Amino acid sequence: MSLSIKTPLLESLPLSQISGTKVWMKMEAMQPSGSFKIRGIGHACARHHARGAKRFLSSSGGNAGLAVAYAGRRLGLPVIVVVPETTSERARHLLALENAEVIVHGKSWFEANELARSLLTPEDAFLHPFDDPLLWEGHASMIDEIMADGVVPDAVILSVGGGGLIAGVDEGLRRNGLAQVPIFAVETEGMASYSASLNAGHLVELPALSGVATSLGARQVCPRAFELSKERPVYPVLVTDRQAVDACLTFLDDHRTLVEPACGASLAVVYGNAIDLKGFQNVLIIVCGGSTATVGSLKGFGNQN
Ligand SMILES: *Cc1c(COP(=O)(O)O)cnc(C)c1O
Repeated sequence: MSLSIKTPLLESLPLSQISGTKVWMKMEAMQPSGSFKIRGIGHACARHHARGAKRFLSSSGGNAGLAVAYAGRRLGLPVIVVVPETTSERARHLLALENAEVIVHGKSWFEANELARSLLTPEDAFLHPFDDPLLWEGHASMIDEIMADGVVPDAVILSVGGGGLIAGVDEGLRRNGLAQVPIFAVETEGMASYSASLNAGHLVELPALSGVATSLGARQVCPRAFELSKERPVYPVLVTDRQAVDACLTFLDDHRTLVEPACGASLAVVYGNAIDLKGFQNVLIIVCGGSTATVGSLKGFGNQN
């Protein structure tokens, strides 16, 4: 049983017009948990379940936690998600809707994660949000679907947080004979841990993170995300929070789908014509989704700052 679904691959006329080439959207926002994360996490949870795991643990109050909660509900296993006090009411509500037990602990993710780890028994499986080869193997299925739909991308645009998505897309491209297709790796300025590492030539840990694209908030990317940048062309691209939020609102009008700023960051690259895509024939943008934004939160962005 697959816990993720086959998502639509749609041609975007607005994005194609702006960039002067064909832009395809992989609509991961349509996944049952609201983001691409269920591909990898669903794949990992199914494996853990098959080998006898009796409970899932997560310390993510975002889309990774939601994917674990969804997977647990579908597989009939209990799920505990430990989140810090800073986690929004909306995120807690969405987790509770999935029947996960939500434990609020500590001022930061670090403390929540420590508690989650301390609860681990041999019968549990702990799901990491991005640094796990099982996750990448599951994420890679989105590229298999695109190829089965008859589209061969010659450039990919995606968002980078901890680097699980890019590691999975890289794996999917490689297993479909597309090892040299370039990837444009997008972050917001306050969450730019990947571009910092690419620019430095080694893994860099940022002292702090900031901004609205919370799903991109990893102070350091996983080592695999860094390594793959030596095996294929990877170009870091940065956008502002304002650009990411505006892209979400324009995308909502254009394609009737609400996504988080973490996903809007990738869309902003095309809406803002930030990179020249004319040399490519079939540009693929991963519409990675996200469930924690609302129309109200997007519209209200900037009013308080
Ligand atoms: C998790 C997530 C990302 C970043 O993915 P990583 O695997 O951490 O790089 C981007 N957008 C959304 C909506 C996410 O949930």
